[in-house]
Amino acid sequence: MKKSAVDMLGSYVDALHPIIYINHFDFRVIDEIIAYIGRDVKCIEYNNAWGLIDFETKAPQLSCDLATFLYNMSEEGFDQETYLILKDVHGELNDPKIIALLKRIAENNLYNEAFYTTIFIVSDTVVIPRELENYITVFDIPLPTKDEILAITKSFVEDLHIPVEQDVLDEIALSFKGLNEFQIKQILNLAYQDGGCIDRDDKQLILREKEQFIKKAGMLELVNFNERIEDIGGLEELKTWLRQKAKIFTNLDKAIKYGVDVPKGMLIIGMPGCGKSLTAKATASLFEIPLVRLDVGRLLGKYVGESEANMRKALKLSEAISPCVLWIDEVEKAFAGCGDDSSGNSVTTRLFGQFLTWMQEKENTVFIVATANDISKMPPEFLRKGRFDELFFVELPNEEERRRILEIHLKKRHKWNKKIDTIALIGKTQGYNGADLEAVVKETIEKAFIEDKPYITTEDLIETIKDTKSISHTLKDKIDAINKYIENIDIRRASKKCM
Ligand code: ATP
Repeated sequence: MKKSAVDMLGSYVDALHPIIYINHFDFRVIDEIIAYIGRDVKCIEYNNAWGLIDFETKAPQLSCDLATFLYNMSEEGFDQETYLILKDVHGELNDPKIIALLKRIAENNLYNEAFYTTIFIVSDTVVIPRELENYITVFDIPLPTKDEILAITKSFVEDLHIPVEQDVLDEIALSFKGLNEFQIKQILNLAYQDGGCIDRDDKQLILREKEQFIKKAGMLELVNFNERIEDIGGLEELKTWLRQKAKIFTNLDKAIKYGVDVPKGMLIIGMPGCGKSLTAKATASLFEIPLVRLDVGRLLGKYVGESEANMRKALKLSEAISPCVLWIDEVEKAFAGCGDDSSGNSVTTRLFGQFLTWMQEKENTVFIVATANDISKMPPEFLRKGRFDELFFVELPNEEERRRILEIHLKKRHKWNKKIDTIALIGKTQGYNGADLEAVVKETIEKAFIEDKPYITTEDLIETIKDTKSISHTLKDKIDAINKYIENIDIRRASKKCM
């Protein structure tokens, strides 16, 4: 059991926090902690499905609704210190009657000297009614540290007499980072039952299990991808930088022991359709870790504190599946409106602040890839040095890059042949972005198929180019604005300078 979680929760109770909201899905772990801090305390449990139940045996004792339960319990706590443990009651917390009853018990706890009842609300969904904001303390169970994970894993292998080298233990412990003790033991059991041993290959199993957790939690989207770094045409500066970071991510344990700081992430700003999303996917593939997308819009909730609780959960979840790439697409839109409220109190401002603090303090192996088009709408705090390891600007592809992108997409569709004169195509595709070039290739191949041509030629491609309006045409104003804005910013170019 986590000592620090126990201490912290115990000190909340001692400091008379009347309602402690434990935001967790694993009720068994919570029961263990409550039982530990409440060794001499009367524990009364209410579960939304069964009513009053025995805290120790979990046997149902009396079926009743929450209001009746709280009403009957409002006199508890005079004779003996009492914990009221309410499970899965989040759906009831906006009922004015429930609010009034909780408030009464909380006030008794605070102001009546002979009354000692602490309420624990245990749920994986946080609902805090405005009227109870001052009485409720949200408590998150800290996850095991690497040393604690190592101790859990060691005790598991020793109990079962499984021979495992220290190196393997260290590596596996790092992969477990972010999971709670219960989940770690579950996976160890599974790995042992599966292969009769614990070895390096179990990292894949841990990854698959972590993916299950993400899907169940629903706060983050797991992105499937096939893209590799070789699928990016150009952006050589960015690719070189990523390859260096990949060496760290694919040898994390060694790198950390060597004293290397784990990279925090990068911000990619730039023209639409120039490979920003492609880079996010290729990064995960290069680092050999999962890619999860954070959609800030999905975190917004209708109750006070709900959005912040969702953000906390999503960030915690990203740590749970780390090492991973956490991708925030169109980050300028995700935190749109941030700072508009002069009190600095809008939900997005608070979420943004929460995210920045997490980023600043993070010592985990979550690699952030934030992508953005409209830099003028970016909260300036994001651009400050030290937030990300690097800020990259992706421009429209230069001549060499256009040649590479055409070649990549032709090869992908098995229609590349040496007779295709890509040099001739370069001059005709000035101002095209990667997406335009991909569209040219796709369309030409489709036409060739319809016309029963065995292969495609330079002329076929030129024909399609003539019919294709490039982004520089369709989004001219936007592109001019981005270029103008970027002139005044200290930002690294993702492409190598043309000679
Ligand atoms: P947006 O800002 O509109 O989201 P983006 O910069 O994220 O755009 P991507 O989604 O990465 O653009 O690219 C769009 C398509 O264009 C992809 O399918 C990708 O195959 C192709 N593409 C863009 N840039 C490149 C590139 N540098 N190399 C190869 N393909 C590219």
